[in-house]
Amino acid sequence: MRSRLQFSLLSIVLCSCTDADPVAESVSRSVTDRHIASEIRGDVQFTQLSDTVWMHTTVHETETWGPVPSNGIIVVGATHAVLVDTAWTNAQTQTILEWTADVLDTPVTAAVFTHAHQDKMGGVQALRDAGVATYAHPLSNEIAPTHGLVPAEFDLAISDDGSVITPEELALVDVFYPGAGHTRDNIVVNARGADILFGGCLVRSGGSTSLGNTDEASIPDWAQSADNVTRRFPDATVVVPSHGPPGGPDLLALTADLARKAQVD
Ligand SMILES: [Zn+2]
Repeated sequence: MRSRLQFSLLSIVLCSCTDADPVAESVSRSVTDRHIASEIRGDVQFTQLSDTVWMHTTVHETETWGPVPSNGIIVVGATHAVLVDTAWTNAQTQTILEWTADVLDTPVTAAVFTHAHQDKMGGVQALRDAGVATYAHPLSNEIAPTHGLVPAEFDLAISDDGSVITPEELALVDVFYPGAGHTRDNIVVNARGADILFGGCLVRSGGSTSLGNTDEASIPDWAQSADNVTRRFPDATVVVPSHGPPGGPDLLALTADLARKAQVD
């Protein structure tokens, strides 16, 4: 049985998704002048951001913060797709692989992770088992096992100015290391040709009044790092944070403001 769900980009609450019909449900509605498509399979939500970019969102019950939704993106090319960040778990990440192959008719062949926390790398094993080429900041791969996470197979080559030599498998995206912020290893990923930037946990969502989890943050560096992202990707019209709905470049300015304020407090 299929059922229609009301979906709002402004209130992504996915806790009930596990109760939903496991058959993929197709939902679409207009948000302002854009036509936004959204589908659910199992406990993963997929939201279309452009012709070539989808956002995946999964929820995990955390000890400290309760249920936390987390986003990544899928960038789709002519013959393959690049996954940016896993879901929280291997099972959820396996669902992303299957849905992308079935619905977008495109296999995920490469993946890149924006730092070594469970919401970004909790499903690396599922990707490695599926033969997906996996990449992360060398520091992420070093830190991952200390957090009980499986590292990516390959280290990204990062220059002193933060630019990254894009491996051929990742050619649908640009990767940038802007400096420390949420963590010392946080990177951002731009979907080429789509003006959509995935900011991960470095970027706070609209309306945020704090920096979120700062256990491993570098607060003195965070504002400069956010500004570095703005300078590096001036054409980004959509900025996707890890936690909360996508917004515009103002999310980077908001994040820098929050970081400067946190330094004074
Ligand atoms: Zn994190």
